[in-house]
Amino acid sequence: MLVAIDGPVGAGKSTVARAVAQRLGFTYLDTGAMYRCVALAAIEDEAADHVRDVAVLHIDFEGDRVLLDHSEVTEAIRAPEVSRRSSQVAADPHVREALVDRQRKLTERGDWVAEGRDIGTVVRPDAELKVFLTASDEERAARRAAQTGRGLEQELADLRERDLRDRTREASPLRRAEDAVELDTTGLAFEQVVERIAALVAEVRQAANRERT
Ligand code: C5P
Repeated sequence: MLVAIDGPVGAGKSTVARAVAQRLGFTYLDTGAMYRCVALAAIEDEAADHVRDVAVLHIDFEGDRVLLDHSEVTEAIRAPEVSRRSSQVAADPHVREALVDRQRKLTERGDWVAEGRDIGTVVRPDAELKVFLTASDEERAARRAAQTGRGLEQELADLRERDLRDRTREASPLRRAEDAVELDTTGLAFEQVVERIAALVAEVRQAANRERT
């Protein structure tokens, strides 16, 4: 089974998806981390004056650790410079094609909670459950500021810039799948959101069981 969680920056996708996966015993896939790895590789390549094609990059997950070409980059990919760069590389159709292909193969078998911008629309439109998480701009910026320690205004400006790029790009823009359940998390504790998604998964399973009998 696949639970697809999409939404804009700071809607709580990572925290919620990780907790839902843990609760259900599913595997968590952070597709944003993959775009971040491509962005970090581009930054490193500029400094080293050579270019690695996305097709030859090794991106691996070991539990919560992220590895790029066998080196740990879990922290490095969260730097503000990498965040900005990631929404630029994510607009490149060649990059998207390569990563979407990997994401499809990964989630082909087993039970997954995959989180990103285009899981329910492009990567796996056949996902059994699609959730589109949102929250007000101010709340999203406040959550990010608490994580990064940067100012609220700076976070607000950054997330609006990334959102705009994600929503207006030609290749797989961020949008809600028609059959996605939209959850506005403004003012909700993250446990309430996890609870709601777990209940939706239970409903999907019950419906599938009824169809089988
Ligand atoms: O989710 P996160 O903020 O870590 O993602 C980093 C960037 O990667 C986003 O700003 C977005 O541009 C891009 N992304 C994407 N499609 C996904 C996941 C992330 O375009 N499925």
